[in-house]
Amino acid sequence: MTMQPAFPEKEKRRRKVILITFPIGAALAALLTFDLFGKGEFLGFIASALLSVSVIILSGVAYFYQRLVREVELVFFYFIAFYLFLMTIHNVNMFSGGRTEDFFIANLSAIVLWVAIVYMASFMSLTSRQNSIFMGISLGILTFALLYHMLFRDGFHLSIILLWVRALFALFVLTMLITQTGKLHLDYITKDDLTGAYNRREVYHALHREMERAARYHKPLSIILFDVDHFKSINDTYGHIAGDHVLKKITRLVTKIIRQVDYLGRWGGEEFLIVLPDTDIQSAERLAQRLCDAVRQHHFEGARQVTASFGIAIYRGQALDEMLHAADGAMYQAKQNGRDQVVIFQEGLGLS
Ligand code: GH3
Ligand code: MG
Ligand code: MG
Repeated sequence: MTMQPAFPEKEKRRRKVILITFPIGAALAALLTFDLFGKGEFLGFIASALLSVSVIILSGVAYFYQRLVREVELVFFYFIAFYLFLMTIHNVNMFSGGRTEDFFIANLSAIVLWVAIVYMASFMSLTSRQNSIFMGISLGILTFALLYHMLFRDGFHLSIILLWVRALFALFVLTMLITQTGKLHLDYITKDDLTGAYNRREVYHALHREMERAARYHKPLSIILFDVDHFKSINDTYGHIAGDHVLKKITRLVTKIIRQVDYLGRWGGEEFLIVLPDTDIQSAERLAQRLCDAVRQHHFEGARQVTASFGIAIYRGQALDEMLHAADGAMYQAKQNGRDQVVIFQEGLGLS
């Protein structure tokens, strides 16, 4: 089994997105830095020049090192988010000391920045943990700005409290938006469109991660590879739509039976891979048998009885492709033995 990059078209689209959005973000951020540090001042010039150069370097890294695209996006996001914090503090300053026009301009640029962040975030996948960190830091800085003003500058007055509440509200809305768009995007890049299981790339990465974890902590790790039996004839007899329905239904059946920590991915066509962390060979076999029974016993709408063949491999320090090859060999053996059954990989079995 040779590994190809999972979705080359998607990667290409991502790089295009970066090439378009990064320069926009860089221009915006450069303008705002200028605004923040004072127009015409040397420091403002240096800061915006530094920022622009950094973003250009980031774009270059993202463009030429596809592997780092996600990391670069995150760095870029935190970059922009940092400017949001600065702008917020800047607003607080403006409110207490600045002239009305300045205050208006500062607010306008802050809104533009927020829109830019939400726009960027829609192309990124942030986990809820990253969002909590982002939210926590922002809250901390805002509260610090408020306390600083009340204690050392203007004392307690209502307008500054109102400003703080308004900033909190904006922050809350922003974080909600980022969470939602981030989640949408995360699903988009990690899930298979038809079944909603993880796509090949994602389950491959999950296997890689779990193998490293298993090696480091000396934990067992198993995988199950299964393939629907005579699926071609299901398509031929009942049509492609019915075939699609069977794939979706099988995904749902399996998802219900496996644990939250397991990964179910669509490996290709009507073939699925399940990664089972902390699972020894006996448990994996029990699980595969349950799955095999569940598929056989399910009544599929608009199709006849469906069965599948399961191959199991356990991690013993071998390379990733070797492990996949082992599961593939076991599954092949299950097909050879008459399908609708589970086979555990053993040395010298079905390997060619
Ligand atoms: P075996 O028991 O040996 O696995 O036989 P099979 O017919 O399942 O295997 P084969 O590889 O010959 O056929 C797989 C079929 O799955 C061929 C392909 O058209 C169909 N297929 C692949 N992806 C999809 C899909 O997303 N939807 C539908 N409806 N069919 C698909
Ligand atoms: Mg098949
Ligand atoms: Mg197949």
